[in-house]
Amino acid sequence: MAAAPTSSDLASDPATSRAPRLNASAARAKTHILIVGAGVAGLVAAASLSRRADVTVLERGPRAGGKISDQRIFDASIDCGPTVLTMKPIFEEAFRQAGGALEEELPLTQLNVLARHFWGPGEKLDLCADKDASIEAVRAFAGASEADAYVAFMADAARTWRTLYGAFIRREEPSFPGLLFRAAPIDLLKLDPYSTYWRALTRRFRDPRLRQLFGRYATYCGSSPFEASSTLKLIAHVEAEGVWAVDGGMKRLARQLEARARKNGAQFRFGCEATAFKDKDGRIGGAVTSDGDAVEADAVIFNGDAAAILGAPSQPPAPSERSQSAITWTFLADAAEADVSAHNVFFSDDYAAEFDDIFEKGRPPASPTTYVFAQDRAVEAPPDRPERFFCLINAPANGDVHDYSQQELAACRTKAFTQMKRAGVALAPRPGEIKQSSPTDYAARFPGTGGALFGPPSHGWRASFRRRGVRTKRPGLYCAGGSVHPGSGLPMAAMSGLMAAEAVTKDFGLT
Ligand SMILES: Cc1cc2nc3c(=O)[nH]c(=O)nc-3n(C[C@H](O)[C@H](O)[C@H](O)COP(=O)(O)OP(=O)(O)OC[C@H]3O[C@@H](n4cnc5c(N)ncnc54)[C@H](O)[C@@H]3O)c2cc1C
Repeated sequence: MAAAPTSSDLASDPATSRAPRLNASAARAKTHILIVGAGVAGLVAAASLSRRADVTVLERGPRAGGKISDQRIFDASIDCGPTVLTMKPIFEEAFRQAGGALEEELPLTQLNVLARHFWGPGEKLDLCADKDASIEAVRAFAGASEADAYVAFMADAARTWRTLYGAFIRREEPSFPGLLFRAAPIDLLKLDPYSTYWRALTRRFRDPRLRQLFGRYATYCGSSPFEASSTLKLIAHVEAEGVWAVDGGMKRLARQLEARARKNGAQFRFGCEATAFKDKDGRIGGAVTSDGDAVEADAVIFNGDAAAILGAPSQPPAPSERSQSAITWTFLADAAEADVSAHNVFFSDDYAAEFDDIFEKGRPPASPTTYVFAQDRAVEAPPDRPERFFCLINAPANGDVHDYSQQELAACRTKAFTQMKRAGVALAPRPGEIKQSSPTDYAARFPGTGGALFGPPSHGWRASFRRRGVRTKRPGLYCAGGSVHPGSGLPMAAMSGLMAAEAVTKDFGLT
């Protein structure tokens, strides 16, 4: 029978999702963990838990990876989901917990240029893996006092990361009292959490272009820099610690995690949606699937979006309360002359208007900031053939209430490509070889989201504390993924997968 919880049932509560402890060998023989969703968090949890328990993964899509995806254009596979891999140690830990070694299973190349940033003609700034090179680049671009401001900003970002990582981020629950208890008061005071990110940037930088550049990190979790807390500056530190390209494309990360989990004995069922949880003796005891099966389990980890958790009362958040969606184009182009790096950002003329369009007016920005991934530039020399590109502009998550027309998408595309051209980068997709995605497509792929790609937005200082934790009030039910604590993005989602596996391991006494 499907259980029907209330929303308060689903609030995080460490006390109730625990199972009685079993002795280790009995636990190994008996424990069956069901994972709903094969996004990166579900895969990390599956790979780790399958060493200690029987694991089944149900995935409604045709393959593992969730938002990690690629599109084929003729014989080329082009990444069209996440492209920036940061926080390598989290992935090292994920493979280690699963009995493997990242360096043996996933070839990575560290990028010298983290990202290339463009404004008007001739205005270009690279941030680099070499921190001194970044300081010199900022000096040449915006002057000595802005370079000093940059050094101070990065020190602040690093301190914010150090304060929050152990005390808040790497914790099963997003607990405010826990943070107050664990972090030193002096460090908490320096966090400046009540300032918006934009206000903090305005105090720090005089050059509006640098405010834009660093403000953009708020969009890494689908948020507006004008509404997010200044603590999001920690993303600048995370990126400065290194950006990696996965040789062979990001889908390899998903494939290798899946392979690890299979090697440990996990079973995968693709094209199989969990439609309801099963109730067993007052606990979540498995799930009913779209093909009519009932899969019994001792515990379930839900890796779908928290807004679509099975059996929860379905009152979807208003589009303005969701994180951003995107409009994207994937294509091949002859680009030997294009002065682009692997990751490129072309900034809009009016940053405030861009976020006002998305979050207040609920429409694609009249003047968008355009992200361009030149996949072949992650290696030293561009290939002697058409190159692979993925372009993205931010858009409102209204794909469930608005059907994007071809005309509307074509207008967005013209704006994005015109803006690149203005900055001196003329990319001409090969005719007939361009694929696009809109919030409507993302809403269909990720139920309950309206196309929001990052869970709830990180708007206001309380937002991080409102995210669902790994445990829920429903015994036997755990959550993992980019819409729960500690947040979105591949490393954060992977971290939640690790923490869900740790919680299950502890609760069931698995060894
Ligand atoms: C275009 C784009 C660009 C991005 N760029 C970056 C980037 O550069 N760097 C970065 O770090 N992050 C980036 N992100 C964010 C990152 O991709 C996500 O935060 C992360 O992949 C989310 O992983 P997840 O574990 O939450 O699972 P998801 O990827 O959300 O996958 C969840 C899976 O669960 C399945 N599922 C849901 N409900 C059910 C059900 N009832 N039954 C069965 N299966 C179900 C879904 O089909 C899906 O496969 C980007 C995202 C997008 C879309």
